[in-house]
Amino acid sequence: MANFTSTNFANQKVLIRVDFNVPLNKQTLEINDDTRIKAAIPTIKKVLSDGGSVILMSHLGRPKSGPEDKFSLKHIVQHLQQLLNEDGTLTEVFFADDCIGDQAKLAANNLKPGQVLLLENLRFYKEEEAGDKSFAEKLASYANVWVNDAFGTAHRAHASTAIIAQFFPKDKRFFGFLMDAEVAAADKVLLKAEKPFTAIIGGAKVSDKILIIENLLERATDIIIGGGMAYTFMKAQGGNIGKSLCEDDRLDMANDLLEKAKEKGVNIHLPSDSIIADNFNNEANISSSPSNQIPDGWMGLDIGENACNQFANVILNSKTILWNGPMGVFEMSSFQNGTKTIAIAVANATEKGAYSLVGGGDSVSAVNKFGFNEKVSYVSTGGGAMLEFFEGKILPGIAAVNQE
Ligand code: AMP
Repeated sequence: MANFTSTNFANQKVLIRVDFNVPLNKQTLEINDDTRIKAAIPTIKKVLSDGGSVILMSHLGRPKSGPEDKFSLKHIVQHLQQLLNEDGTLTEVFFADDCIGDQAKLAANNLKPGQVLLLENLRFYKEEEAGDKSFAEKLASYANVWVNDAFGTAHRAHASTAIIAQFFPKDKRFFGFLMDAEVAAADKVLLKAEKPFTAIIGGAKVSDKILIIENLLERATDIIIGGGMAYTFMKAQGGNIGKSLCEDDRLDMANDLLEKAKEKGVNIHLPSDSIIADNFNNEANISSSPSNQIPDGWMGLDIGENACNQFANVILNSKTILWNGPMGVFEMSSFQNGTKTIAIAVANATEKGAYSLVGGGDSVSAVNKFGFNEKVSYVSTGGGAMLEFFEGKILPGIAAVNQE
């Protein structure tokens, strides 16, 4: 793979796979959250300021079969143009209302240095997700350089994210800045972690996180388990968990993980106490209890005060921190304290010199919600992709850039 930063793209046509899969308001089709678009701007700007032209391709939503207005990338053109022009450089953004075909080809051919062409949603063609070779070849024909900056879809072997690589020589394939930063952050934690290395794993289901925990057992010194998934461990250990979330078919597996951790000398931290409620509801009756003595009819919806202190202590003594998944139902104000306390602890540890990576879904929403995104070392933009990275898988979108 060639180095993106040190390459000059003057007079080059650069095809960039971005992840513009942003949430749109259902009625107005306005952008609800432009984080992903913003994250791609530095890569686009770099090519433009070198004197190259940029062809952007992305997917948006999950169109079933063929074009649907609500999934059209035309809804983001104006905002993209605004973001690109924030620094006063005039960048023109053209839109091709089909990602392949004569119009797209002509628009790509006519593109001048400093100009941007956004192609319509790739997933209007089933060939994109099928990884169709001739579809990829058509996309590749627009440009002489391919940049993959779509970390969010790097775990998919789609036409534009992986299959397309074969149509560019190795020195014309690059990671964009975002992809580079995501991979560097994940590598820093998974391959080069300074110890003590604490992984904080939360969220609803153990079944979603088994592979991550197994991979982390090889790497971490401490694993904190919170959120709904903690109760499957509590029950597996003989505790009473009332009507807390539990995957009864995973009890043996939970015990196996605890056993394996013991063998490997990894400390597993389960929440000693919980905030409990008699209903899954912000206005429910609320109390607290040891996590293994939750009364019948009650459920654990957040970690308790002791668990907060216990977890914060472990976090504050860490040099590397990986956080995936909230400690409780943080969307409801009555059950957000645990997640907030952990966010504060991660921020404090970071201030003391630890490296912290928050990645994969709801923990990212949580640090954003509580305003800690600037206080951790890195917040990943890739949900599923980061999860698969943490599981130790090789991501097709990353492998493709490096392949021979
Ligand atoms: P995940 O997508 O697996 O990371 O799970 C995130 C979801 O888990 C969030 O929507 C939380 O509200 C939910 N969650 C966290 N803790 C609990 C809990 N104790 N009981 C039920 N749901 C929870």
